[in-house]
Amino acid sequence: MRGLTGRVAVVTGAAGGIGAATARRLAEEGAHVVAVDLDEDRARAVAGTLPTESIGVRADVSAEDGVAGYLAAAVERFGRVDLHHLNAGIPGSFATLPELTVAEFDRVMAVNVRGVFLGVRAAFRQYAAQGTAGSIVLTGSIGSLRGSADLLAYQTSKHAVLGILRGAAMYGGPLGVRVNAVAPGIVPTELFAATPDVSGGKDDMSRRASSTPLRRAGTGEDVAAVVAFLLSDDAAYMTGEVVSVDGGAGIVSTVRP
Ligand code: NAD
Repeated sequence: MRGLTGRVAVVTGAAGGIGAATARRLAEEGAHVVAVDLDEDRARAVAGTLPTESIGVRADVSAEDGVAGYLAAAVERFGRVDLHHLNAGIPGSFATLPELTVAEFDRVMAVNVRGVFLGVRAAFRQYAAQGTAGSIVLTGSIGSLRGSADLLAYQTSKHAVLGILRGAAMYGGPLGVRVNAVAPGIVPTELFAATPDVSGGKDDMSRRASSTPLRRAGTGEDVAAVVAFLLSDDAAYMTGEVVSVDGGAGIVSTVRP
């Protein structure tokens, strides 16, 4: 893919399934990776296995000083940042609407919405300071586009990611900064396993995956390939887009006329 070699890419949630796969794919395309996660050991372990010079950094993306901290680490090591995959997210716990607490709602919003807002804002500030035009990809979800009776906080947060996406793409366009999103479907990572409505576990996940047009669950690598493309110059005329990476799950109609 064009425009990734030698670039410096921040990946948040890089210790997790999708983030680690993106870190690897970007590094295989020649980018230096700043692997950011709450889990410092795993972030460093991911960075340590990459084929380019890369670093692992502990940061909480939901806090302003966390975001400032990972950017400072990136600039200290590499002198600049060119690309961002703002991917860190949490599933929230299973609760029907009357049972969903304010604390739980706020916990999910803090990471999935405020974290993305802070990451996007910091990216724009960094690009302005550098005098460069970078690229940003957000991780939405099939839940950005659908409703669920028992994952309301998560799905609301992922809808909000699209609000940030569209505002940032409008702002960034004239500056040459592209902002896009991926919307993964079923990817069996730790997050997915922790999502209670599939705590029917692997059987339920297999059943749901096998009812999608491509008849399988996705992999981190499936998502990472699309993220790398969107960050690359090959996607030079794309901004504000949400690209589903869901094996076709999003086109399935549950209503038969
Ligand atoms: P994962 O749990 O494997 O990875 C998420 C990572 O984010 C973890 O390493 C975790 O430590 C990190 N993280 C959580 N809160 C953080 C914080 N405040 N600061 C820094 N790091 C933090 O999950 P995943 O499936 O790889 O999820 C990645 C993204 O993909 C999430 O935004 C998720 O909502 C989205 N997604 C996943 C699926 C799926 O099926 N797995 C589907 C749609 C969307």
